[in-house]
Amino acid sequence: MAETLFSKIVRREIPAEIVYENDEVLAFRDLNPQAPVHVLFIPKKTLATLNDATPADADLLGKLLLAAADYARQQGFAEQGYRTVVNCNADGGQTVFHLHVHLLAGRRLHWPPG
Ligand code: AMP
Repeated sequence: MAETLFSKIVRREIPAEIVYENDEVLAFRDLNPQAPVHVLFIPKKTLATLNDATPADADLLGKLLLAAADYARQQGFAEQGYRTVVNCNADGGQTVFHLHVHLLAGRRLHWPPG
């Protein structure tokens, strides 16, 4: 599959403000934040969209969400609350085709998102 700039961030070939990392997951601040906290959690492994995930990726998908929750606790806003979002393909608003979980926090978020 085609490489995206997120793979380059994993390899430290382009800069990003990395805020969290473990063996399989990397997280960095979104360049165009939609909330006071807007962090993207990505698998280090390349996976284009949620549609491309298989049962073999179940553990990895869980680890992305657990990493987001871990970060929220570390940063002290877990109790106040936050939102996690995975956009998939055109109607979902996906623009970067390396699967990622958005973590948004720091303001009251509306639902539905529109
Ligand atoms: P999505 O629309 O769900 O694919 O989200 C892609 C997100 O990546 C957008 O919120 C962009 O602002 C963000 N983004 C694009 N390029 C970069 C980059 N180089 N570093 C950090 N965030 C980026």
